[in-house]
Formats: sequence, C-alpha cells, structure tokens
Amino acid sequence: MTKFADILLPLAQPTYTFAVDEDMAIEEGMAVAVPFGQKRDIYYTGIVWKVHNTPPAAKRIKRVVRLLYGGRRLLTPAQQRLWEWVADYYLCSLGEVMRIALPALLKPSALDAESHLEAEYRPRTERYLALSTPREEELHPHFEKLERRAPRQYTALLRLAELTRELDTAWIPRRLIESDSTVLNTLQKKGLIIGCEGERTRDKELLAKRGAHAFRLPELSPHQHEALDRLKESFEEHPTALLYGITGSGKTELYIHLIAETLARGGDVLMLVPEIALTTQLVERLERIFASRVTPYHSKLSPERRTRTYLDLCRSEGGEFVVGARSALFLPLKNLQLIIVDEEHDASYKQSDPAPRYHARDCAVVATRLLGCRTLLGSATPSLESWTHAQTGKYGFSTLTQRYGGTPLPRILCSDTLRSVKRGERKSHFNLELRLRISEALARKEQVILFQNRRGFSPFVQCPGCGHTPRCPHCNVSLTYHKASERLSCHYCGYHTPLPTECPKCHQSPLSPAGFGTEKLTEEIAKLWPEAKTLRMDRDTVNSETAFRRAISAFERGEADILIGTQMVTKGLDFGEVSLVGILNADNLLFSPDFRASERAYQLLSQVAGRAGRRDRQGEVVIQCSDPAHPVIRRVVEGDYAAMARAELAERESFRYPPYARLIRFTLRHTDREVLFRAALSLGEQLRQRFGRRLLGPVTPAVDKIRDEYLAELLLKIESGASSQRARSILRQEIAAFRAGAFKNITLLCDVDPQ
Ligand code: ADP
Ligand code: ZN
Repeated sequence: MTKFADILLPLAQPTYTFAVDEDMAIEEGMAVAVPFGQKRDIYYTGIVWKVHNTPPAAKRIKRVVRLLYGGRRLLTPAQQRLWEWVADYYLCSLGEVMRIALPALLKPSALDAESHLEAEYRPRTERYLALSTPREEELHPHFEKLERRAPRQYTALLRLAELTRELDTAWIPRRLIESDSTVLNTLQKKGLIIGCEGERTRDKELLAKRGAHAFRLPELSPHQHEALDRLKESFEEHPTALLYGITGSGKTELYIHLIAETLARGGDVLMLVPEIALTTQLVERLERIFASRVTPYHSKLSPERRTRTYLDLCRSEGGEFVVGARSALFLPLKNLQLIIVDEEHDASYKQSDPAPRYHARDCAVVATRLLGCRTLLGSATPSLESWTHAQTGKYGFSTLTQRYGGTPLPRILCSDTLRSVKRGERKSHFNLELRLRISEALARKEQVILFQNRRGFSPFVQCPGCGHTPRCPHCNVSLTYHKASERLSCHYCGYHTPLPTECPKCHQSPLSPAGFGTEKLTEEIAKLWPEAKTLRMDRDTVNSETAFRRAISAFERGEADILIGTQMVTKGLDFGEVSLVGILNADNLLFSPDFRASERAYQLLSQVAGRAGRRDRQGEVVIQCSDPAHPVIRRVVEGDYAAMARAELAERESFRYPPYARLIRFTLRHTDREVLFRAALSLGEQLRQRFGRRLLGPVTPAVDKIRDEYLAELLLKIESGASSQRARSILRQEIAAFRAGAFKNITLLCDVDPQ
C-alpha cells in the first residue's frame, strides 16, 4: 500500500501531503526534505506531522526526497500536541510555531537540491579510540614491555584501559587521553589500539557516567523546608503551583532542591527565566551546584550552539536540566517532569512579534496537561492571573514570608516631589531626602542603585520660543535626545538625525531638552557628587550579554559607587553592598493608560526596592513621586501585595478585564490612513455581527504610526466561563474571510491575551 505523509513547512500554511517511498522508515516528528513551490527543484525542510494511507485529492503528488538528521525524531508526539495547542489558542499556523520552535539551522528552506543537501546540519564528530581487544588481560604482556621501553606509550595505553573500565564503554573520545598523536599513532600501528570517527559525545554524558553529579545542596532553613514540603504536597493534587516568596526569601534555593530531586529520578527539568541576558548571575549560581549539567538555551547563543543543543537533547535519555528563555519551552525534552517559571509575572514571557504571540508561562501551565509534567510558578510579585488561580484553588500555593537569615525588608520612603519643589529643596532631579541619603551611603562606602525607566538624555526636545518638538518622520512619536552622539533618535524605528542647532520651525532659538533619561542623570550625578564613580546600564551602554556580564561584575567588584539604570537593573540581581535604592520618578509608571499599569508599577517598584540591603543589613529605598497618597505607592511602601491585589482585582472584575475576561486584540496596519480605517470599520462590523457588544473599536492606539504604517485596533473581550474554544473557531473563519476579501492587502495581526 502507498504511504503518505502530511508535512509541516515553516510557512503560514497548512500541512501538505506527500507520497513516501515504501522503503523509507518515516515516522512522525522526523525532519524531511521535500520539493515545494511553483518553481522546479526548490527544496524545503518539513516535519512529518502524520503518516497515513489516504491519497490526497490532488492529481500530481510529489514525493518526500529524504530523511534528515539520520532519521532522528525532532519532536515527540506529546510535543506535536503542544505545537497544535499553541497554533490553535494563539490563532496562528503550525508553520509559524515551527519557525520559532526549531533552531534556524535545522530548517534550511527554499534552496535548490544541491544547496539543500549541503545545508543539512551535521553534528560535530570526533575521534574515538578503543583497546584492540575487549579482554584487557591479553594486553598485559605489552604493558610490561612498554613500561620499560616506552613510558609515554605505556601511560597512554594505561589511561585508555582505565577509562574503558571507568566509563564502561569500549570507545573512548580521543580528547580524554592526554597524549600526543605520535604516541597514539604508534600504539595503533603496533595493533594495540584501534580508532574511528563518531558523533561527538557530550561532556555531560561522560560526567554522568563517572558519577560526578552528586550535587551539594544548600541546607534549607526550617521556614524554607516548610514551604518546600507544602509545594510537594500541593503537586500531589495540582499539576501547577505558585510559590509566592518575598525577594531574598530563598525561592531559588527551593527550586534547586526540586531540580536536584527530579534529576536524580532521571527526569528532565526546564527552568524558564525572563531574559537570559539579565540572569547571568542566576546561571552562574546554578552552575556552581549542577556544574556542566546546566544547559543554557536562548537567542544570544550562536545558531550552531542552539542547533547542537537541540539535537543532543533529541537523543538524550533524560536527566537534562535546561535553563532558558521562553523558546526553550519547545526543546525536545522527552522525560520532562518539572518546569519552573521564575519571575512568572514578567511581561517578557509573552512574545509580541512575530506570531505566534504566545505566553511561555501560560504554555508551561498547559504543558502539565499535554506533557504530563509539574509546573512551578515563582515570584515575589505574582501576576494577578496566577494569584487568582492560587487563591481559588486552581493552582497549589506555597509562600515564603521571611528573608533568609532574618534580614528585614528594606525601609521604603516616599518623597513628595511637588512639596520638595515648593520648599526649594529640589536640586536637579533629586529631592532633599534622596540627596542626603546618597551622600551618607557614599560616605559609608556603600553602593547605590538609581532607577529611571527612560534611556537617552531627554525623552524629547522643545523650542522655548514656538513650542515645536521634533518628531520621527516615520512614527508618530517625539524623538529622544542622545547627548553623547549629539543625535535625536526614534526608539520605535531607529531613525536618527543630528541635533539641529536651532529650532527647524521658527529658526529663533536652540532646542532645549525636556524631561530626563539615564544619560542626563549620569551627567547630573557627576556634578552633584564629583567624587563618586558611576556606571550606567541601559540599552545604549549595554547591548550584549557579554557587556551585561562585564557591567555586573564591575559593580560587584566595587568599581562603581552608583549604578544608574533602566528596567535592566531590576531583574534578578543580587549585590551584597547596595544599601540604598532610589527611584527618580515613579509618576511615569503610575499614570499610563494600560489596565495593567497599577499591577506593573507595583511589581517594578517592589522589584527595584528588593535590590536594597540584601545580605546582612536593612536597606533603604527612596521613591520620588508627585502623589505619595497614590494607593499603589502606599502598598509598595507597606509591602502589602495582597492589598494591592484585592484592590486591583475588584476594579478588573467591575470593568471585565483579565482574569475575569479574555482579551484578543486585532491590529490592522497600512500605509494609507483612509484605507486602513475603512478596513478597520469593516472588520469591526463583521466581528460585531458574531460577538455583539463584546467587540470594542476600532480605536487609534497611543502611537498610531510606526515605520510609515498607520495602526488601528479592535479589542474582543470574552467573559471567563464563555467557551473560548468556540470563540476561536468563529474567529478563525472570520479572519480567513477578511484576509480573502476586499482588504486583503491590509496587514492583520491577532494577539490573544495581549500584555
Ligand atoms: P529569592 O530568589 O527569593 O530572591 P534567593 O534564593 O536569591 O532569594 O536568596 C537570597 C539570598 O539568600 C541568596 O544570596 C542566597 O544564597 C541566600 N540563601 C537563601 N536561602 C539560603 C539557604 N538555605 N542557605 C544558604 N543561603 C541561602
Ligand atoms: Zn520612528
């Protein structure tokens, strides 16, 4: 009987059916080369999605050309179900999931036959050596001779024999035998050893065989023990659990215990972290315990390295520990038993562009069902979604309410900027309270972190005469002034232009900077505290993982007294000498139109505050803000997460926002504003017929033009409890209809659960 296979290609299209030669040992999950497209002799890499016997309707059917990667299965059936879930839930195609789930080098596509053949990634090989006989005794007479006459050959042969016993395998990687090639060649010529080429063995496999994985775990405090026991209990009933632990309480230590237990059982562990470049310290800490067992996986690694990791994991037998960014969720861990989502509230778990616009935390929760694992969400400031699920008993729950070692939480003080101005106490961007404390900390030789969530020198420049503010010609935003480069630049599209010497509109006066970013702050500090050494950390000064690592270790070594930074300084950093944290302007966090503004402000402020006074003494935090009575500020000062959550959830419930409703946002883009609006109105009408008042818009977003395209948005609010499955299937039809209709040249993006 003829076999057929539905093949998934890295395109926004459904699977295609191909014929399969009878003798081809094809299986679902394998990668294959297939001819595809209008032109002859163009080859793609596809994934075998389904093998079956049903001939397709099409008359001419092409054949699968060959299996790739030695017929290795690149994904398990359980992972296939996860990909399908992602495509279904996030309203995208399986091909789009394939694009992000597989490392680039594994899916060469749109190449002619020869180039495709060449582009197939081949794992690195290495040289292996073995004793020429499996019975070591037979070689003993030679040993004796060599010991007397050729000591170097003797040592090499002895080492090979030892490793053969120790690793319990005949073929030993050549690199483990520390000996010259001439020595080994002579042994080979004498017929005492034999050699061959083979796929490179991973160091961690060798280590595991040598039993070098007895981890030395930190001793837990009684409080931490209790929390760990509660977690384990809750996992008996709930596949997902939330660990709510204040900063510095030792959440990471609990993770370490769970990881070690899972690895010891031979299970795989996946630990997701928000942005790998920002978690250098964490990875180093894990490596101190799990050594080479830690496999990092994120976009900053070379494509070659990611591909190698992917293929290595395909043939692993379990006991893997991957620490990675969101896309690590798709790695082929066959025996995945535990997923940890650290800082689960972090918005960077959501991919915003391109499709699939998936949320890795939410996928990790779904994975408990599809892959049969346990998922642990951890945070000092959980997302309100996870918090609600934990409170209502959908997730298990455990808490850590004390800092390890009993260090008290930092003292947080809110300094009123308006009052400070009135009293004439404000100098540059510093109220008196913050200025005094900085001076004191510097005098005590302690370190200070200052947070300002704007980079550049000033967010915009303005003409004092006519009020003109230069804007980006391609985006509807004002240009940010960067002083070092004397440029105005757009933070949306990267456009930049030299700072004009006079106002380009009235030509009367020079433009003057308004507001302040990290660059300006650094300059002001140099004036106020000329003796202090400063270090600036933002996307302009730190743009790679190496740069980040360097900056952090410089600060750790005490090479700077004051660290000035954006969001970058908020995440997962643990410095022992920081006694003071200053937040220069909390106003721009509080007053943003997003329904998550309060939640995010609370999270960000508490996370920054948590960097103060970590090890043995209480730290201090000064928040500068024009409205100290603002409920979010009060909650941050009191450290009362639960009260913030109660207040916010009440609002969300009355206005029907997540977690009480699901949102799906549609963004339309086009260069012609008129056409765009007609399209948005038309799609709005079309969807309103199916969803009634659940559909809102079209509206113009705050930034309504980016890269020369105008934007319009529609928002669908589906109350929890309603079948979102049904809503999605209606949406699929409507979207397909819209894309095929009169407005097919309009870009339409769907974002399920937008952040
Ligand atoms: P969190 O992840 O909750 O912010 P950490 O796990 O980073 O907290 O712990 C904060 C600090 O306390 C770290 O420096 C950590 O090494 C230390 N610590 C926490 N628990 C222990 C423990 N059981 N033994 C030794 N040190 C600990
Ligand atoms: Zn721009």
